[in-house]
Parts: sequence; structure tokens; C-alpha cells
Amino acid sequence: MMGHAAKALPFVSDEERAHWHDQALWFVRLKRDRQAESIPEWEALRESASAIKAHTLSRLADYLEEFERNARANGIQVHWARDGTEHNTIVHRILAGRGITRLVKSKSMLTEECHLNPYLEAQGIEVTDTDLGERIVQLRREPPSHIVLPAIHLKKQDIGELFHKELGTAQGASDPSYLTEAARGHLRQKFMAAQAGLTGVNFAIAETGGFVVCTNEGNADMGTSLPPLHIASMGVEKVIPRTKDLAIFLRLLARSATGQPVTTYTTHFHGPLRGGELHVVIVDNGRSAILHNETFRRSLACIRCGACMNTCPVFRRSGGYSYGYTVPGPIGSLLAPLRNPSHFGSLPFASSLCGSCSDVCPVKIDLHHELYAFRQELVRQKIVPLYKRLAMAGLSWVLMTTWAYCLASRLMRWFVPRLPRALVYGPWNPWGRQRELPQMPRESFRDLIKKEPT
Ligand code: SF4
Repeated sequence: MMGHAAKALPFVSDEERAHWHDQALWFVRLKRDRQAESIPEWEALRESASAIKAHTLSRLADYLEEFERNARANGIQVHWARDGTEHNTIVHRILAGRGITRLVKSKSMLTEECHLNPYLEAQGIEVTDTDLGERIVQLRREPPSHIVLPAIHLKKQDIGELFHKELGTAQGASDPSYLTEAARGHLRQKFMAAQAGLTGVNFAIAETGGFVVCTNEGNADMGTSLPPLHIASMGVEKVIPRTKDLAIFLRLLARSATGQPVTTYTTHFHGPLRGGELHVVIVDNGRSAILHNETFRRSLACIRCGACMNTCPVFRRSGGYSYGYTVPGPIGSLLAPLRNPSHFGSLPFASSLCGSCSDVCPVKIDLHHELYAFRQELVRQKIVPLYKRLAMAGLSWVLMTTWAYCLASRLMRWFVPRLPRALVYGPWNPWGRQRELPQMPRESFRDLIKKEPT
């Protein structure tokens, strides 16, 4: 089974692209900082959001039942799915029961998690992702590489090539306005032909039985206003108690995600269209198990803003595909091994533990401490390979034993200068080349050490 480092190798080997990816995400991170700094009560908002999430998670079943009661009273049909398979079956049953073969879908990481697209396509239903980034990766038959910016790993030239092949745009064209216009025309036809629309749910309000979907492109609105059937897929953790709580989350979400003051379209759904149907599928898919895990239950507070990815030095330099899970980055490095520790056991180690993720998280999930705790858990469960456990135990003993520490320091001082340069900076270490290391000195390490003042 390939770990994070091995999966990251193709990405980090393309130095130019990895550097560009790093800078693109850092730009988003800086935009987020400017927005956060422009609001004096930013930290108070984060505190409130964190407290609301902690409270909601402590009474999750009650709030979900309240949401269901009120949603039904609004004419919304509510379904419960234990896992991804049940979710897909329910969605298919609704569509097949009405003879629907064309579905448009706005961004929903939950449907990615459940692998809904391939499931429906295998049943003869055409699914079109309508978020521009999602449509791009769908045309490339790839999953999203980031939860908010699904095609952030691609340059405009890559998209120009793809659109030339798939949408017939001019060869070599890479002007973003031209490409966006072409995508708009293509998607417009899909919207007009759709028989049903599927959206995710950003926030479901227990008090009213309504829910909110945030997009920047208005694609959720188009996809749910034209066809008479709307299906919304919602993870159990999306519920919040009251409408007034929403204001706090909406102020935090767009600023943390893309550095915008507010998402362009924030749409409230409180019932079906006249003569139409609205279904909400509430999905557990392993979330209840996380809720019962006292150490890591806070990971369910995540509002999927992506800020922890944009700031993470490992994510920025290794790309979303190196995580091998629907949700990458620091939060994915918790969620994935919580679902399958032996398969995703390398992810908690894909972190510098610098704490930047915890600093930006709008709901104050203590990501880096949780990642550290997860490492210890993996060692306890013996999922970390034996050689690594032995190395860590040995190192821990050396650090705690004065004479061993002194001896090891002497040995390292002798050994490191004799390491071949290629091991440190050369082609054998593409990961090391991506880091902001000082320029390789012309002198050997041995000469440099000799020069050091005593
Ligand atoms: S863990 Fe926090 S920063 Fe990361 S995506 Fe979730 S809410 Fe955003």
C-alpha cells in the first residue's frame, strides 16, 4: 500500500508545477488573512462557531430529529442513509422511480465520498457536475484535488487543451474569460436538458427545517430552479441549531475559504418548488463512530472551508492527490484514518505540526494536536511499521539519556559531513528540493564545519 510520501512523488518531481501550486494556494491564504484582519471580532466569531459546533455535536441526535420534523412539515421528504451505498441506492431509487436519466449536480464532497457519479452512470444516468472546477476534473475523469478549488492543480493551458478536445474551443486558447464563456455555453445546455438537480448542504437548520447551499457560480440555483426535482445530500454533521447561528458560520465560511467577504450565492431552501419535489438524504457513513471517539470527535465540526489546506506547507507542496482520500490536507489526514487506520496510516505523518492549520481553522479544530495524538494512536495500534516504531523508541531513549545523547551528537557530527551531497540535495530527494532550504554551499559540509567559530 502506498503511503503519502510515495503518492506525492510524481507531484513533487515536477518542481515548476509544485512551486506554482504552492504560490497559488498561498495567495488564497493571504486573501483569507486580509479578510480576517478586517473584522475586529474575528476571534470572537471563531469562538462562537466552535462553541456552537461543540454544543450541537453533544446533542446531535436531538437536533437531527428536530430538523427532520420541521423539514417534513415544510414538505421536504427526508431519507436516512447509514453509508455511501445506502445513499446511492436512495438517490437512484428516487431518480429511477421518475424515469430520470439526466441529472445536474452542484459541488458536494459527500457525493464524492459516496462515489455517487460512477454508481449512477453505471445505472444509465448521465451526471453532469456543474461547478466549473468540478466539471473540469470530471471531463478529465479525475477526482477533485481540493475541496473548494477542485482543479487547483491545473494551469489554464491544461484547461485550454482539455476544452479544445472536449468542447471544441480553439486550439492553444488559454484565455480564462474565453474558456469560462465556453464552459458556460456547454453547461447551459446541460442545465436546460436536466430532469433533476442534486446539491450538497452547507448548513441545515434544526429550528426551521430549511437548509443553505453556498456557491460562487449560481450553479446550485440553476440546477434546482429549472428541473422540478431537487435532491440534497447532507452529512449528519451539517445541522446547526438556530437560524441566528447561521450568521456566524456564513461570515466565517467564505472569508476562510477564498478570502471573499461572502459567498456570491447563499441560497435558502425551505420546501419544494410549486408542483415539484425536494428530498434530503441524511448520511452517516462512519460519522457516528467518529462522534463516539472522544479524542477526535471535534473533526466533525469541520465546515469544509479548505483553509487548512491552503495554509498547510505539506499540502501546498505535495498536492491533493497525494492524500488518496476525498478530503485531503490536515482535516483529511484525520478523517481518512478515522475511517480506515491501516489504509491511511501515513496521513497523520504528512504534517509539519507547525500549527498553521489550527490557527486558520474557523471552528477552531485543534488540528495539529489531533494529528500528533493520532500518530501516538497509530503506534499504540501497531499500524506504524515496526522499523519506524523501533527508530522512534531508540530516538526517544537517546534524547532522554545524557551520555547517549552526547555520544550520538559526536557521531552525527562526524557522519553528516560525510553524507553524499546527492542524498541531501540531489535527484534522490525531490521532496527536499521543494523545501525552502538555503542554497547548496560550494564547499563541502566538512569545510563549512571547520570554518564555524568555536
Ligand atoms: S478543518 Fe477547519 S480549516 Fe480545515 S476545512 Fe475544516 S473548517 Fe476549514
